[in-house]
Order: sequence, then C-alpha cells, then structure tokens
Amino acid sequence: MITDTIKKFVSRLFSPAARGPQRITSDKHGIDRRNVSRHAIKVCEVLRQHGYEAYIVGGAVRDLIVGLEPKDFDVATNATPEQIRPLFRRARIIGRRFQLVHVVFGQEIIETSTFRAPASQDQETDEHGRILRDNVFGSQEQDAARRDFTMNALYYDPHNEEVIDYHQGVHDLKKRQVRMIGDPATRYREDPVRMLRAVRFAAKLNGSIDPATRQPIETMASLIENVPASRLFDEMLKLLTCGHAMDCLRQLRADGLHHGLLPLLDVVLEQPGGERFVELALERTDSRVRAGKSISPSFLFAALLWQQVESRWKQLREQGEHNIPALVQAADSVLDEQTEKLAIQRRFSSDMREIWFMQPRFERRMGKTIYRMIEQPRFRAACDFLQLRAAAGEFDSVLAQWWMDLANGNDATRADMIEELAHLPRDPAESSGPRKRRRRPRRPAAQHDQA
Ligand code: ATP
Ligand code: MG
Repeated sequence: MITDTIKKFVSRLFSPAARGPQRITSDKHGIDRRNVSRHAIKVCEVLRQHGYEAYIVGGAVRDLIVGLEPKDFDVATNATPEQIRPLFRRARIIGRRFQLVHVVFGQEIIETSTFRAPASQDQETDEHGRILRDNVFGSQEQDAARRDFTMNALYYDPHNEEVIDYHQGVHDLKKRQVRMIGDPATRYREDPVRMLRAVRFAAKLNGSIDPATRQPIETMASLIENVPASRLFDEMLKLLTCGHAMDCLRQLRADGLHHGLLPLLDVVLEQPGGERFVELALERTDSRVRAGKSISPSFLFAALLWQQVESRWKQLREQGEHNIPALVQAADSVLDEQTEKLAIQRRFSSDMREIWFMQPRFERRMGKTIYRMIEQPRFRAACDFLQLRAAAGEFDSVLAQWWMDLANGNDATRADMIEELAHLPRDPAESSGPRKRRRRPRRPAAQHDQA
C-alpha cells in the first residue's frame, strides 16, 4: 500500500508535466540567432514589450536545431488575435474556425497564433474519431500537447535564446526520431494526416519513426480515406516537394504503406516499367527543392501520371486511333478516373493536359509550328518534361536538347536555330511533309471469313 503510494508519488514527480518543461540553453540546442528571421524576432519582441509571452514555434525551431533552413517562421503567443493585430502596422486576422494573425513584412508573413488547447472529450469528431473543430485558446503547455510530434513542439524564445521543451523534443530530434506526443493510435484517429507527416519528417531528417509511433500506422492507414481531398492534396504536395520525396516513397513502400495511404502512390508505384520515369521525376524535383528552386505541382503530377497516359495512348493507337486524338482520349480517361481519387485539383489538371499534349509536337520540327509552340504558356514546362522523357530513354536526347536550347534562347537565337533547320539534312523520322495517316485496321469482311 505504502509502496504504491510512494511509486505513484515518484512517478508523478518525474512525469514531464510535474517537472515542468525543460529549458534548454543555446549552447545545448545550438540555434544560431543569426539564422532566425528578424521579422519573427520582431514579432516576439513587440508582443513581449506589451506584456505577452511569444515564441518561435514548430517547424522552424525543429529545422534550425538540425541545421536546415526553415521554410517559414511561426510565432505562438498568449495574446489573442484581437490583441495582436493592433500592435503591427500590417497585420490581418485570418481563419474562421480558429483565428490567427498574419503579420506582413514585405515578402515575409509571420503566422502568429494564440496558444491552443488540445482535444477534449466533448470535441466534435466524425464517426471515425477525426476532430472536426479545434478552436479553444489554452496555455503554452496545452498548446505543446496538441502538436503532433515532440520535435514539432519546441518553443524558441529569441529574448533569452532558450528553447522550452515539454516533451523531450530536443532529445528526440538529436536522435532524429519522430515521436508522437500522447497515444499514437488516438492521435492518428484524431487526424490521419499525421501518418503521412511522420513519414515525411523521418525522411526529411534522414532519421526514423519511433517504434511505438510507427506501429499503429499499418492498421490505421485506411483512415486516410476520410480526410477531405483538399487537405490530403496539400499534405501530398508537401511530401512530394519536401526535397526527399524519393526517400519518403521508399519508406512508405518498405513499410507497406503505399497502399491506401496515398491513392496517387498506388497508381504510380504499381505500374510496371513506370518506376524509372517516376524516379527521374522525383529526383529532379528533390534536387530543385534542395537548390531552392521553385516546383510546379502540375509538372510533377504530369510526370507521375505520364506512364499511365502513355500506355493508354499506345493502346488506342494500336486500335487504329490517330496520334493526337488518341493522346487526348488517353489523358481524359486517366484524369477522369484519377482526379477525384487522387485529390488533384482541377486547376492543375488543365496544365497537365497542356504539358502532355505538347509532347507529340516535339517529334517534328517545322518553322511555323515551332513559333506557335513557343507562344504556349506551358512551352517551358513541356520542354522540361521532354528532358525527363529523354533521360528515361523514350525520346531522342539530341532532339530534346535542341528544344531545351530553343526554350533557353532569346528571340535572335531562336530565329537562328529555326532558320538553320531549313538547311539541315532531313531526318527521315522527322519528315516535314504531312504525316501519313494511319489507317484503322479494316475488319475482314464477313463473307471472307465464312469462305
Ligand atoms: P513544414 O512546414 O516544414 O512542412 P511544420 O512542422 O512547420 O513543417 P506545418 O504544417 O507548417 O508543419 O505546421 C506547423 C506546426 O503546427 C507543426 O510543427 C506542428 O507543431 C503543428 N501541426 C501541424 N499539423 C499538425 C497536425 N496535423 N496535428 C498536430 N499538430 C500539427
Ligand atoms: Mg511550417
């Protein structure tokens, strides 16, 4: 009896909540203040001067500790949106369900939100336990508890350069281990997108998912189906453009999670022979992201679905359909079938079509049509796409390079290149005359069959 009481007392004494948060000094966490956005520091300072607490929080702190460059900086504070807004010249309250403030400094927006309370019993959920509303202000400790992983629940105070850590996040981060705050299964049920986030952060940090955090994923993966398509799309895009998309996909596959977790991946990873092309597309995306270059989602999705389009295109041609109508039909059928399921937004699908439809036009170089092609808004993307096809061995690489040079050239260079074409010996594969129409195979006449 007494030992039980003592045990309880001791465990309470050592539970994170009883001990309060760890306060980690800069010599231990290693964040160099010079790498912190001065605008984020400014937001914290102003709030502090007005008597509030304010910290840089979330992904930025995580990335700074491991030496990555944060994508953006978020601030968390105990001031309410109405209290925050008047303190800054350019600030607007956004969001209806949970309001937060965008403090604007030229190009940079510092998203500033009020500490939030975590899920409670009477929270509104769907029939699978997914939280539908999450909008109660809370304390810093509560705010930490409602975040997903320990490494994402760190608060950096620019004033004294300390990191406040309620869940041993710095420790996990140094081990590069993604660990869920609270009971993983419950947290996945509340928000299934967290499964994808776990995989993404592990790949991004070149680390791993803590075994207890990883264990429920396999059986719970199907809950992803209940997530609204637009949210899933955002998360999928983050995964594909995190700079480690290939690692993410390998991991998802190794864990058997590519089934059901992301419908797009089923399509992409399961097609025979399509792997090389997809790999090339993702490697290219990864290296662009790591070099700080922009990524076009339409290009990426066009690449991921190309093998499907191509094989249907081929099929239709074999059935006697003409080249271009066959391609249009193939694209339509892939998109019709996949858009809804894949959560690819309509605005991207029209760009994807343009990129695809330009492909057969690269096969023949004819002065007049080249000028028309250059004027197309997706010409550049379509040329980039052609390079992928060349790298995958499905298009002549010299010809692909010619188009790339054309895309990179100025008006004068382009005119020269097109002019030179007239003097080149014709490649028979690239004949300039009207293409012979492929005939539909004629059905053998019935009487012959019978004869
Ligand atoms: P990045 O922006 O690099 O993708 P991030 O950690 O900043 O990573 P955001 O989606 O910008 O991710 O979210 C900011 C923070 O909000 C996270 O660090 C985490 O603390 C919290 N958060 C985001 N999504 C969730 C979620 N689904 N469940 C719980 N907390 C979340
Ligand atoms: Mg972020």
